[in-house]
Amino acid sequence: MAAMAGASLQMAATRQCVGYPQRMSRLETRGLAQTKLGCSSCVSSAQPLQLSFAPAALRLSHVVTRAMASESQRNGPPGLPIDLRGKRAFIAGVADDNGYGWAIAKALAAAGAEILVGTWVPALNIFETSLRRGKFDESRLLPDGSLMEITKVYPLDAVYDTPEDVPEDVKTNKRYAGASNWTVKEVAESVKNDFGTIDILVHSLANGPEVTKPLLETSRKGYLASISASSYSFVSLLQHFLPIMNPGGASISLTYIASERTIPGYGGGMSSAKAALESDTRVLAFEAGRKGKIRVNTISAGPLGSRAAKAIGFIEKMINYSYTNAPLQKELSADEVGSTAAFLVSPLASAVTGSVVYVDNGLNTMGLASDSPSLSL
Ligand code: NAD
Repeated sequence: MAAMAGASLQMAATRQCVGYPQRMSRLETRGLAQTKLGCSSCVSSAQPLQLSFAPAALRLSHVVTRAMASESQRNGPPGLPIDLRGKRAFIAGVADDNGYGWAIAKALAAAGAEILVGTWVPALNIFETSLRRGKFDESRLLPDGSLMEITKVYPLDAVYDTPEDVPEDVKTNKRYAGASNWTVKEVAESVKNDFGTIDILVHSLANGPEVTKPLLETSRKGYLASISASSYSFVSLLQHFLPIMNPGGASISLTYIASERTIPGYGGGMSSAKAALESDTRVLAFEAGRKGKIRVNTISAGPLGSRAAKAIGFIEKMINYSYTNAPLQKELSADEVGSTAAFLVSPLASAVTGSVVYVDNGLNTMGLASDSPSLSL
């Protein structure tokens, strides 16, 4: 109930202010003073923002919409390419060549970005060994025939923010032996020491130890672990990387439709974690936008047979379901998520922030399973 009341309050607030900029501009063109606005709630709700984030009063006369490209835009390459040359990306959550993180890394590399990755400590050895031995060479192939270069692989465990947070049993766990500086704060410091700044931050990781359990049977520990690994990890990464992100940069995370529609089987608090991630996307878009001119978006991706998804146990059925019921009847390729991510972090999406962008062949739009046996009755 409280949540519902909160939601309707939020909607009311949104509705009240929707017309505000329109009214402002209409009145401004007539030369009327702001005090004559008939919507006092809009004025008062806008004032705190002006005080805390826009000390030099917000003047709409500064806002110019251009129909023509500026000089610098005209000097770019021909066409409308995604051009990430000169940009550096840190991609958290790459440990093999099957997942969305890898596909995003490839798309960003194809657009010219330099690639750094953060790999979960227990998976680090095998990933680095496979990379070194050429096991991924075929899937490193970029459209221009070159191979994706990963400039550096950082060990990372996004569940821990600082060394003080790491419990003794993890410190002494043999899966962590030999690796160092892998908490979020330390990784951001290492990247700063090695490269100074980044432009793009990608969060492509999730973990829910009780994902196969229904929410009704999920323990508090399992639920909080899902949130910690799958949503707070993004808050923490952005918190620690923001100071080294160049203004105009962007971040991306990966979410799933289970955040907003019930997907039986996606349990253990993972649906809650994705809902939190999407809400955080909006709040962080505002905060990081104002603080560092950084955009924050999340991609709601369709089902992919990645290592993490296979652990849930029914991914093949979800892929078949999507194929049968989505508006676009085709397999969803990880590269399609990769190219959407490349667009979203590029200057082409310079006005897109706080959005959940669906890359799922349109499955999210359906309210009916077209293959339901009930339909043939
Ligand atoms: P994946 O296995 O390729 O990626 C998950 C990664 O998270 C792995 O590399 C794993 O090592 C890493 N990881 C887990 N815990 C970590 C931790 N504590 N610190 C650092 N890294 C950690 O699988 P994927 O399906 O490509 O997942 C990437 C993202 O895409 C996830 O957020 C997932 O929820 C999302 N997603 C996946 C699907 C799907 O069907 N596969 C659909 C929608 C969204």
